[in-house]
Amino acid sequence: MNKDKYLNDSRFKDIKPFDKKVWLSSPTMHGEEIKYIQEAYDTNWMTTIGENINEVERQLKEKIGTNYCIGLATGTSALHMAVKLAGEKLYGRPKAGHGYLEGKKVFCSDMTFDATVNPVAYEGGEAVFIDTEYDTWNMDPVALEKAFEIYPEVKLVVLVHLYGVPAKIDELLEICNNHDALVIEDACESLGATYKGKQTGIFGNPASAISFNGNKIITGSSGGALLTNDEYSLNKVKKWSTQSREDAPWYQHEEIGYNYRMSNVIAGVIRGQVPYLEEHIEQKRAIYKTYKEGLKDLPITLNPYEEGISEPTFWLTCILIDEDALAPITYYETYSEYSIEPGKSSPSEILEALAAFNAEGRPIWKPMHAQPIYKDHPFITVEGRYKTVDVGMDIFRRGLCLPSDNKMTIEEQDKIIDIIHRCFE
Ligand SMILES: *Cc1c(COP(=O)(O)O)cnc(C)c1O
Repeated sequence: MNKDKYLNDSRFKDIKPFDKKVWLSSPTMHGEEIKYIQEAYDTNWMTTIGENINEVERQLKEKIGTNYCIGLATGTSALHMAVKLAGEKLYGRPKAGHGYLEGKKVFCSDMTFDATVNPVAYEGGEAVFIDTEYDTWNMDPVALEKAFEIYPEVKLVVLVHLYGVPAKIDELLEICNNHDALVIEDACESLGATYKGKQTGIFGNPASAISFNGNKIITGSSGGALLTNDEYSLNKVKKWSTQSREDAPWYQHEEIGYNYRMSNVIAGVIRGQVPYLEEHIEQKRAIYKTYKEGLKDLPITLNPYEEGISEPTFWLTCILIDEDALAPITYYETYSEYSIEPGKSSPSEILEALAAFNAEGRPIWKPMHAQPIYKDHPFITVEGRYKTVDVGMDIFRRGLCLPSDNKMTIEEQDKIIDIIHRCFE
């Protein structure tokens, strides 16, 4: 990154870098976390069992409204367990060394973090990527319907709610029901967001996943949880995540196991954070609103949602540059080249300008079908639905995530808004 390029650019000449870095989304602690960590220490529950875990599981199932919650090491491990549950339900238990989805296709969100879809590969399945819609930046129901026409044998869908904005859940679930498909909901970015009054994380069948990774809306430093409504799934995941021990006086194994349980120390952090979830959401919503107001004169739009239907958390505020205001930019596999033009800008220019002044943005998740590791996988898009065929790539090409840290002051945010304006000068 060419920092001096921006520091010496006449457009930015009276702007000074932030003394303290403005983060994309960093942990916000409140004090109670340390009390619960201390409790774990004092009582010597320095393991993957204990009161903090029990309490976090209770808090989360109450908040989200599922019958059960099980604390796990990460959101990724929760997604892995969810995928295995679905695989077992659909296809039975494989022999050791074989995946639960071996040779099976699974429909997956395309524009997302790779942790959404990698668990399908862990189990030997083949992700088929479903294009994105422009109303919420999530899986397009029209493309999903088309995918079922092409691959009617598919019985599992993995969908995400990106950046804290719920997907078009009713439309997607109806299609899945019509095709007798199970649904795994990746709610790792959307904890606290609601769809028609219901919390995301409640819609997965057999299960949904949430994450407490360090940059999520509340955090345990790491950690995740699986949510489910059926007791069989709860017990299965408890077993698999603790090395699949059978009920015997010695270590007896009928199934492959994992060491995926949440630590009671980390659960202490999460336990202290859960009561602040709503406060964090309010802060994220205020950030989104301030950007919306501050950037309204620019040729950009913010990450959209279905007004009156969903209440997003806006975990990250993102912008999309209008096509005719996008300065020329070419994306290669691991870098981009762009030019600077008056009245226009590009994601790379804005991200580099922000970085030069010590603020952290992030590119939009690069679609999975465009990742080298998944390049041979089918990608389903609907021609004629939009002007653009590949919606995910279009949003990646024109979009970026803005600094959305809930400790950002209004002065800091105003300066970020100012920097963005100057990129368009
Ligand atoms: C963070 C995240 C995950 C993974 O969560 P970890 O706790 O980091 O393993 C999965 N999916 C999405 C969409 C995420 O943003």
